[in-house]
Amino acid sequence: SFHKSKGQHILKNPLLVDTIVQKSGIKSTDVVLEIGPGTGNLTKKLLEAGKKVIAVEIDPRMVLELQRRFQGTPYSNRLTVIQGDVLKTELPYFDICVANIPYQISSPLTFKLLAHQPAFRCAIIMFQREFAMRLVAQPGDKLYCRLTVNTQLHARIFHLLKVGRNNFRPPPKVDSSVVRIEPRKPRIDVNQKEWDGFLRICFNRKNKTLGAIFRQKNVISLLEKNYKTVQALKLSHEDPPKETETKLDLSNLDDFTDDEGMDMDGATDDEMEVEDGEAGEVQSEFKGKVLGVLKEADFEEKRSSKLSLQEFLYLLSLFNKAGIHFC
Ligand code: SAM
Repeated sequence: SFHKSKGQHILKNPLLVDTIVQKSGIKSTDVVLEIGPGTGNLTKKLLEAGKKVIAVEIDPRMVLELQRRFQGTPYSNRLTVIQGDVLKTELPYFDICVANIPYQISSPLTFKLLAHQPAFRCAIIMFQREFAMRLVAQPGDKLYCRLTVNTQLHARIFHLLKVGRNNFRPPPKVDSSVVRIEPRKPRIDVNQKEWDGFLRICFNRKNKTLGAIFRQKNVISLLEKNYKTVQALKLSHEDPPKETETKLDLSNLDDFTDDEGMDMDGATDDEMEVEDGEAGEVQSEFKGKVLGVLKEADFEEKRSSKLSLQEFLYLLSLFNKAGIHFC
């Protein structure tokens, strides 16, 4: 009997298993990481193709079945089974990861793999179709989202294969896709917390203009809080303190009047933030600074749903240069 909660859907189509292994491009010298080997249908082919397979499986019954299956075969000394939750397991060195995973761990597992050092060559992973399409989406695609940009920061991702639900026993409720994830080498150098905070704000309403998003009161006050913290830190390191940032500049306030009334992206009124209820001069000045960065590089009218990874990186660098931080 299979555990639904553990996402146990066994690949029953041997041709499909062959295709996945072929497309993986495993070399005879490779250490292969498999996640969720289950009864071992994929494991067997991985053992045939690679030098060594390390399989992480959470279900002790499956671990037993797997060990029984390969006991006394030439494969047994090239297979290591680790019993445990892959999300809580410290991963060993591997060259390539091939896995038909339980879909509920898709997101955390992807980020765990992408954080792994040293970077592996590639990971060939079966995901729920929609998750896979989010990973490979391009700017302007319907499924382009924070997950897309966040994963594409660390890796190049390719769609390899569509897999119908009837290739599994029992069949899951959704169709699947196999994707290939290649970690970028070298890594793109960015402060992970800054990046994460930045993307959360940008994708808060992915179809709104960045101008509208960065006018929101809660966004401005968060960024201003960060700004003051950073300025205070800087000042405490300077001796004597330079000019303090209390200069008043109301000259260009007109440029920043709200245009949300004209927003054409279908956002309903209750999503709109009420602005400037108790805004003092300092907040207005800071808001001008933030919007100035957007204007400077012509981002004000753009929307996150259409921005490339390079554009996000560029915009973040502009904000940081202006002393505006997201963590
Ligand atoms: N690889 C097999 C196949 O293709 O036939 C089974 C795939 S099945 C979709 C997912 C497997 O992952 C199950 O054997 C399940 O017990 C295991 N699993 C579920 N959650 C896990 C976790 N957090 N860590 C490791 N294995 C897990």
